[in-house]
Amino acid sequence: MERFEGTCETREEGLSRCVTLSNGVEMPWLGLGVFEVDDNDLTETIVRQAIERGYRSIDTAALYGNERGVGAAIRTCGLPREQVFVTSKVWNTEMRSDRVEQAFEESMKRLGLDYVDLFLLHWPIEGKIVASWTALERFYREGRIRAIGVSNFLPRHLEEIETNCDEMPVVNQIEYHPYLQSLDLKRYCEERSIRVEAWSPFMHGGGILRDPTLSEIAESYQKSVAQVIVRWILQTGVATIPKTQTASRMVENSDVFDFELSDSDMRRIADLERGMRWGGDPNNFDF
Ligand code: NDP
Repeated sequence: MERFEGTCETREEGLSRCVTLSNGVEMPWLGLGVFEVDDNDLTETIVRQAIERGYRSIDTAALYGNERGVGAAIRTCGLPREQVFVTSKVWNTEMRSDRVEQAFEESMKRLGLDYVDLFLLHWPIEGKIVASWTALERFYREGRIRAIGVSNFLPRHLEEIETNCDEMPVVNQIEYHPYLQSLDLKRYCEERSIRVEAWSPFMHGGGILRDPTLSEIAESYQKSVAQVIVRWILQTGVATIPKTQTASRMVENSDVFDFELSDSDMRRIADLERGMRWGGDPNNFDF
């Protein structure tokens, strides 16, 4: 099993604990996702609350419609800009219409920041992967994006980049939780030093949070199922960005650095794999 090890020397506690991406940039292992927080004022409040509770990584996207709120919170939270890691993503319609460069500029304008830490191609759009990636490479070289990555990419999509482009993605953000472990894809990414990051770690807040095995394991550590899932994800060497707009859950979901799942419990959770998705299938999506 790959160990969950923070490699950052200067910011090594809890939510500040970082993984070093293959280009040397440090990314917190655990951040906050803000999908479906539709209102920018509410987003600003939530992100500020999260930062006050120690979160140092925020995952947004042009699609979520809340980059303005994320940027406002980061600009006004009182922390130096370099202490908060911000991820955003370019949406599919922009890739389909060859508007990645403009879309990036629009995201930056909404965020109101000089640079973004991680910028992702949101989904692999057939026929547009190389052109979209090449646009991101340009901004990366200019220093306006510190790390470039992809989301929902399968090996064949990554191969297209490997064959035709200069830089490899440093992150692949995929749906990943105990019911969908994508071991082959995970291994493929790890062999190429592409860090896997888990979206929808709680399957969007579904029944996985009431899974009997996870509940039993949670009870034995006096933790919640949500905490066991986050801890399991980190111990498999995967970063993650659970979403919550509930202040108490922000604390709960990040209180995972004071226990370690045993090898036998890691195996019990590995056995829960059932190839079950909450979100779209990268092999077959129509959005
Ligand atoms: P999650 O799996 O993170 O689940 C979020 C849901 O779980 C919300 O309804 C939340 O409720 C609830 N929840 C959070 N914590 C707890 C808890 N401790 N106990 C019980 N319920 C809890 O869903 P997301 O789909 O939002 O995924 C996380 C993030 O991943 C997104 O916000 C986004 O940033 C990213 N993402 C990326 C995608 C991609 O294609 N790249 C696709 C989907 C998501 P509440 O907020 O009310 O507390």
